Amino acid sequence: MEMKARKRFFIQTFGCQMNVNDSEKVAGLLEARGFEAADGAHEADFVFLNTCAVREKASEKFRQSLARLGRAKRGRPGLRIGVGGCVAQLEGPAVISGAPQVDVVVGTHNLRRIPELLEQAEANGRVAIDLDRGADAFDVPNAVTAHANPVRAYVTAMEGCNLVCSFCVVPRTRGPEVNRPPDDIVAEVEAVVARGFPEVMLLGQTVNAYHSHGHDFADLLARVDAVSGLRRLRFTTSHPSHVTPRMADAFRDLRRVCPYLHLPVQSGSDRVLQSMRRGYTRAQYLDTIAMLRDRVPGLALSSDVIVGYPGETNAEFDETLSLLEQVGFDGLFAFSYSPRPGTSALRLEDDVPETEKKHRLHVVNDHQQQWQRRRNETLVGGHEEVLVETLDGDGRVSGRTPHFRIVHLDGPDSLLGQAVSVEITRSGPNSLQGRLSQLFH
Ligand code: SAM
Repeated sequence: MEMKARKRFFIQTFGCQMNVNDSEKVAGLLEARGFEAADGAHEADFVFLNTCAVREKASEKFRQSLARLGRAKRGRPGLRIGVGGCVAQLEGPAVISGAPQVDVVVGTHNLRRIPELLEQAEANGRVAIDLDRGADAFDVPNAVTAHANPVRAYVTAMEGCNLVCSFCVVPRTRGPEVNRPPDDIVAEVEAVVARGFPEVMLLGQTVNAYHSHGHDFADLLARVDAVSGLRRLRFTTSHPSHVTPRMADAFRDLRRVCPYLHLPVQSGSDRVLQSMRRGYTRAQYLDTIAMLRDRVPGLALSSDVIVGYPGETNAEFDETLSLLEQVGFDGLFAFSYSPRPGTSALRLEDDVPETEKKHRLHVVNDHQQQWQRRRNETLVGGHEEVLVETLDGDGRVSGRTPHFRIVHLDGPDSLLGQAVSVEITRSGPNSLQGRLSQLFH
């Protein structure tokens, strides 16, 4: 008897770790329905675009992909196309106006329904849409998620955001904060550890604002840290106003919590921070950094900044640069301000010219690269614990240190998932090179 070929899917993900994790859930759901992963859109029967609305550029890239798929579908009428995530939630059914090639549209809370909507679209030849915000965002069985990284499993701690940052579209795309019960989080961590993942990254838009069933974020970290077999615990993204001394002590006292914190500052100017409605001043942010460094010597820190926010003067931009100088972040993500629909900053004139925004971005990135180069040079000659997560090919592998620094080394593919001690032999601004010195168990 001839075997029926399995249908294949491909997911293109735009945006943050939360979107990557959502795509992992969709992949798992499709695999559970008998689909298999394809290497690219050209090989797939179903292509799902998981969209990001945080900046205009990400939205534009999604539009380009959608147009490409529309052209591909003319030659392959059997191709099915899905659109989901933040742009779909933001724009509603209008997301597909002028795009008759789309078969399925889902919001940020309806991923679980993708296989069913796909069947529905196939059956009646019409686009199937579910953008209901009331649906349970966590309603995807733990065991289903097809984690993309062989080492680091993302686990959702909370969804949505209650903050009112003037520039940010996330509260509109992902809704208000919903905290997941601690028992559910711990159960999922136990499950991924049992599946062989040594590292967990807890996810939430403001993950350190977590509170549920009388637990705050420090309590949650303590509970997850106690899961037997877990090697490393990370989390993202934290908000400066929710960093507490108890959270800082978790870095110091809990064995698996890695000494790395991503703490977006956005600007070094008090006028800009106030207009952004970030809820802290420059001095308060710096006090938080001082408190963290006092309690957790050697803590690695990274941040996000936005340049060219409405009204940002040269002097205010210089305040951001001086803050970067003062803190010395281990990593930085710098963005050019992008006006977003429905945000309160939309009422302000986007008056910093594009060329000036580009220039400021260049200055910030250049400053940061130089700092990272100098910082990484100080690590040469030392030893780092590296958890190998990537096969680079040709007998090379790479992984991350507890401080989240990337290290490349010579080593066999069998090192994947192993923790090894590496002597650092060379450095660059974005990564380290090293020599294997010992395996850990
Ligand atoms: N709260 C989430 C988090 O940090 O995980 C989502 C924030 S967003 C994915 C990451 C960064 O994008 C923000 O910290 C901010 O620097 C930047 N960003 C957000 N809205 C922006 C906008 N309208 N223009 C430029 N950059 C923006």
